[in-house]
Amino acid sequence: MDFKDTLQLLQSGPIESILTGCITAWYSSCTALNRKALQREVKTAAQHITRTSELPSMEDLYTQRCRRKATKIIKDPSHPSYKLFCHCCRLADSSAAAFEPEPPGLRDSFIPQAISENYACKYSNEIQSVHFGGSHQQVTLHTGVLYLANQAPMPFCTVSPSRRHDPPAVWAHLDPILQFLAKDCTNVQNLHFFSDGPATQYKNCSNFHILSTEPHQRGFSVVTWNFFEASHGKGAPDGVGAALKRTADTLVRQGKDIPDAQSFFQLLKDTSKVKLFYVSEEEVEKRDEHLRQVPLFTIKGTMKMHEVLSVSPSILKYRDISCFCRAAEGVFDCPCHSLQEVGLVAMEATDQTERDFRPNAIEEHHIGQWCVVRYDDEPYPGIILQLEENNVKVKCMHRNGVNKFFWPSPRDDVNWYSDDQIMCLFPEPLALNKRSVQIEQQFWEFIMRKLDK
Ligand SMILES: [Zn+2]
Repeated sequence: MDFKDTLQLLQSGPIESILTGCITAWYSSCTALNRKALQREVKTAAQHITRTSELPSMEDLYTQRCRRKATKIIKDPSHPSYKLFCHCCRLADSSAAAFEPEPPGLRDSFIPQAISENYACKYSNEIQSVHFGGSHQQVTLHTGVLYLANQAPMPFCTVSPSRRHDPPAVWAHLDPILQFLAKDCTNVQNLHFFSDGPATQYKNCSNFHILSTEPHQRGFSVVTWNFFEASHGKGAPDGVGAALKRTADTLVRQGKDIPDAQSFFQLLKDTSKVKLFYVSEEEVEKRDEHLRQVPLFTIKGTMKMHEVLSVSPSILKYRDISCFCRAAEGVFDCPCHSLQEVGLVAMEATDQTERDFRPNAIEEHHIGQWCVVRYDDEPYPGIILQLEENNVKVKCMHRNGVNKFFWPSPRDDVNWYSDDQIMCLFPEPLALNKRSVQIEQQFWEFIMRKLDK
């Protein structure tokens, strides 16, 4: 390094340091306009320092810093985001390293999808809308991108007048894609879905039920569904939705009317590069009808799952972190990250008495109810105050006898417990005296059985 280089480094160093302070936090939320303005400043500075415009661009700096930060987190198992980052890295690997011996299998298809979006129908002449009662129809757009080996990515969007966003709707929207794969891509055997995990849309038992049955019925052999953490920023599928809405708005400005889903579909299917499919309201309802006849089950720890998969009909496997380490051999249910399995048929026949005492999942409507918390292998009655993911906040009583409990005072004993620490729900304890209460016998026996006492 000669003198000039050293001087340059001295001058550009502090600037770079100021510019990149916490860059991983703020840069991603800058608008394109902000970024351009900032880049212009960097360019001016570069001219002062180097007499050329050769300083690393903000974009490069940002990528570099993000990478550095991610690498650091991955190397540090004590970091709060460690697990998440390992998960993300594995997901990224899935499309690269894991398939390295062979290119992404001809048998594999990757389908990241976005949350369904709504498009409010518009008329070129807004006055007209008054004649239609003034209320605008909504169109549901379900967007995704289909990645296949040796082919350009295919952005797709299904358009529907149905305003539902739940699993019956999700799968009605996926139907044309699966049909397309079965008809035009006969070598595709494996479906890999990627989405974030809103519980109402994707991360729930109805979705799990469909994904472990329907694709198999259609002849696919492997289904994996990988969940990104919510609020992970916008991916390609969100871009597809945004682009379509923009195109639709442009068409409206040019004088076209888009009063409903059908016209949205008809107008955009030829003008857009995105492959469009139409899903009728009836198709969504038909699926809902069908799903209602299936006994539903709940799996504990649903919120923590990041991968669910099915390699044989009606058998669902899941784990907290996605893994594709043996994907190249065509094995997707490697035992990594304590892979767990549930047979949906068996789940439907769980012990009814047990279910009477302890619902499969603690849900919002249980707030305010009495429960028994298992803590240090001892039972404590309390009242459910709040829920978050699979943690339950409970105000607990203290113990002053075998089956004798009292409210501590002056300080309440309020704590968060994990879902599986909730042993059972029960109506209300019986009063023993002014201060103490007792858990009713049948519940107490159940608890003792559970605790092996
Ligand atoms: Zn693995």
